[in-house]
Amino acid sequence: MRRSVLEPWIRARTGCGSREELDRWQLERLRQVLDRAKECSPFYREHLRAVRSEDVSNRADLEGIPFTTAEQLRAGPQSWLCCPASQVERIVTLKTSGTAGAPKRVFFAQEDQERTVDFFAHGMGELVSPGDRVLILMPGQQPGSVGDLLEKSLARMGVQAVQGGPVADIRAGYDLLRTSGCGCAVGIPVQVLGLAEYGAQLPPKQRARVKSVLLSADAAHPALIRRVGELLDCQVFNHFGMTEMGFGVAVECSAHQGCHIRENDILVEVIDPSTGESLPDGQPGELVFTTLDPRAMPFIRYRTGDMGTLLPGACPCGSFVRRMLPWGGRLVGGGRLWALDGVLLACPGVVDYALEEGTLTLYGVIPPEPENIHRALAEAGIPVPERIRTRTIAGFSGTGMQKRSL
Ligand SMILES: [Zn+2]
Repeated sequence: MRRSVLEPWIRARTGCGSREELDRWQLERLRQVLDRAKECSPFYREHLRAVRSEDVSNRADLEGIPFTTAEQLRAGPQSWLCCPASQVERIVTLKTSGTAGAPKRVFFAQEDQERTVDFFAHGMGELVSPGDRVLILMPGQQPGSVGDLLEKSLARMGVQAVQGGPVADIRAGYDLLRTSGCGCAVGIPVQVLGLAEYGAQLPPKQRARVKSVLLSADAAHPALIRRVGELLDCQVFNHFGMTEMGFGVAVECSAHQGCHIRENDILVEVIDPSTGESLPDGQPGELVFTTLDPRAMPFIRYRTGDMGTLLPGACPCGSFVRRMLPWGGRLVGGGRLWALDGVLLACPGVVDYALEEGTLTLYGVIPPEPENIHRALAEAGIPVPERIRTRTIAGFSGTGMQKRSL
């Protein structure tokens, strides 16, 4: 088994050759980030008033640093900036799913985008080699979008990118996968599942040949990952990304036992979401991120609202780079939705689902026949919705999934 491709990259960027060295390096970087944020950002000057960077000498000391939240970011993103506004190259606006509240805005300087490109250019080494072609099924039209940055990264590796955009039309997306000569695709989990289900309906000779797939943008349940791998008969790699972190956070190695974290740029903690206390490795909780790179907008102990687990010990691939399982869904209502994902996305034929006002709608390329759905839901301890109906799905709207409200 090949060691995570992130390890030689992180060694080169940090000069660290062991877990202990990297832990010390991260804390040193964190102290610098704290000092710079207090000096340059009006928000952090106030927010970190009681924090002295010299008091942070081990991981337990992190607990003395107050969290930041999406609400604080919404309230005044400009005040988080540590550089002149003229150095901001790209602003990403994230609309909130509900109606309340201002959208989140995240600012990136050219150096921030370069670090993401550098991460992708090494992380994609898990899937592709020079001369390969990759179909990008993510937004890629705008400069600085995730697809655009990925294309730049692939070019550095000698890998050609084909921009397909999110899968608005499943048939057209599959045709592109089959005819573009790409042995690798990067896409949004349910959208890739839609393509995989579509292909499975075709005679074997008309199917696309894919060696590997990278799933990104949404948390991919293991049940979905398994089905994509079976239907496309390929290796599936999971990537955890987040816009605030410059899109890239952690990527699986060929051991497929958790995603190795981009530890030269991001420090990951897991906390108990109700008490805020740090949790030991192996225990699921809320993911909390701190950026360690000198970026336009630092995130210091930023509560993501996403569930996940830091895995204890070294990876079977032999790497000392920390791993996380980005599994569990969103914090609010996420537990139940994640459990639903586990039941519904494991059902043959189901590509996506909607849950609204007691009605569960299952979508498939052809209408799914969920005969055993009642039993499967009951076995998972999930209350069976009042009404279950099935629909066909021909495409997806933007990057989103169907609406799921509890
Ligand atoms: Zn590994």
